[in-house]
Order: sequence, then C-alpha cells, then structure tokens
Amino acid sequence: MKLEEKVAVVTGAGSGFGEGMARLFATEGAAVLVADIDAAAGERVVEAIRDAGGRASFRKADVSDRVETRAMLESAVEAFGGLDILVNNAGISHANKPFAEVTDEDFERIYAVNVKAIYLGVQEALPHFRRRGGGTVINTSSSAAIRPRPGLAVYNSSKGAASLLTKSLAVELAPERIRVNALCPVIGETGLLETFMGKPDTPENRKAFLSTIPLGRFSTPEDVARAALFLASDDAAFITGVTLEVDGGRCV
Ligand code: NAD
Repeated sequence: MKLEEKVAVVTGAGSGFGEGMARLFATEGAAVLVADIDAAAGERVVEAIRDAGGRASFRKADVSDRVETRAMLESAVEAFGGLDILVNNAGISHANKPFAEVTDEDFERIYAVNVKAIYLGVQEALPHFRRRGGGTVINTSSSAAIRPRPGLAVYNSSKGAASLLTKSLAVELAPERIRVNALCPVIGETGLLETFMGKPDTPENRKAFLSTIPLGRFSTPEDVARAALFLASDDAAFITGVTLEVDGGRCV
C-alpha cells in the first residue's frame, strides 16, 4: 500500500475525479476526508469507501470560503490526527458559450472555486503540514491550461492560473518539504462532460471530441486517480512543480 498512515483531504470528492482519487487513496491505506459542497454526494462516497473496508469521513465545505476551508482541514486533523495530502480538486465551469455571453457572476464564481480555493486551501493547510514536517498538494488543473478549446476562455484561464500557482508554490514551499504538483486531465466522463462540450451528449458530439484525443477515449476517474496516487506517494518524493498531463496525448 502506497499511502499507509497518511491523511488526505480531497475536495470535490462527491463525484467524478475527486471520487476516484478518494476511493483509490483509501484503498492504498490513507484515511480520507471527503469534502464537497454537495452533502448527499459526499456521504455516498464515504459509505462506499467504508463498505470496501477503508477509512473516510465527510465534511461539507464550500472551498471558496476561508472559514469553511479552515474547518474542513481541522476536521481531518481531528478525525485522523494530522494532514499529509491536500487535493484541491473541486472545480466548476459555465456551459461552453461565446466569450461575449459570459457574465460577471460566471467569471467570479469560476475564479473563486478554481483559483481562490487553491490559495485558501494551501494557506490553511500550511500550519498542519508544518507540524508534520512536510506535506503534499495536488491541484486539479486541466489540459485546458495547455491547449484551450473555444467557448471556455474563463475556465481555461482559471486552470492556467491553477497551473502557475502550482509551480510558484512548489518553488516557495520546497524548503519546507512541501511538494506541490498539478494534474491536467483531458475531458472526462464526469459531471462536467456536457458543460465542456456545450452540446448534448450524443454519439455524434462524442465522436467529434474523441477525434481530438490521440488515444481515442475520454479520461476516467481511474486514470486521474492513478496519476494522483503517484504524485501523492513517496514514489514522487523528488517531484514538485509538475503539471502532469493525463490526456491521452491531447496536448502533444
Ligand atoms: P464533477 O462535477 O463530477 O465533480 C466536481 C465536484 O466538486 C462535485 O461533487 C461538486 O459538488 C464539487 N464542488 C463544486 N463546487 C464546489 C465548492 N465550491 N466547494 C466544494 N465542492 C464543490 O466534475 P469533475 O470533472 O470530476 O471535476 C473535478 C476537477 O477536474 C475540476 O477541477 C475540473 O475543473 C477538473 N477537470 C475536469 C475535466 C472534465 O472533463 N471532467 C477535465 C479537466 C479538468
């Protein structure tokens, strides 16, 4: 087991990539705090982890809020005795649409959840990591940060910020033995699929998207979770500041 005795907080773990990471981390021995704004979704994931023999608990949190972020991290420390791994995974987008139709509310909410939450999460995790003598952060960025698609300019740029925040924090926090990496998945079979396509999920629309991915399929929560497990584990002890593409070759 690669994460034995580790404590992980995974945000947006009630669905999609976050759920995949929470489940795999628990299988690999970590105690996992499942955090999500959607309580029913998060509770379902905790139940599945426990049914499989893993350790997990749920905390409802809006990751764009400092007070809720602080309480989320404290609840992991209270439940499991410390904090080793923070996955800033919760993310949102508006549906694919022309730039001129994006609203102020769209912009502000996307940047609050996709960018500000990383700033808050890492700031609030620092005291806990310092008590442990180090830690690991994984931010879910996107292939959109490297190879943007039209109709998603605000989302794409928020992920660009997530990637650069990752690299900046990696160099700043390395002396404290805190590694900071990001994952850049290509479009996946999650709750966000139709949002990114901006079209109904029909076979024709899927085919058009799949033609842009050399390995010929969408990413899955398992793909992303396997990459996250590597970055979170000691196998990646000398790796920090990478923005790892999990994209079937989309960004080549
Ligand atoms: P998803 O919608 O299946 O899951 C996202 C989860 O985040 C949901 O459970 C939702 O309730 C939660 N969430 C949303 N806002 C929140 C908030 N303010 N506080 C706490 N939780 C919140 O989507 P997903 O595809 O699994 O997305 C996970 C991450 O992957 C996001 O950062 C997304 O931008 C990124 N990503 C997704 C794709 C894709 O195609 N699906 C591709 C690249 C990157």
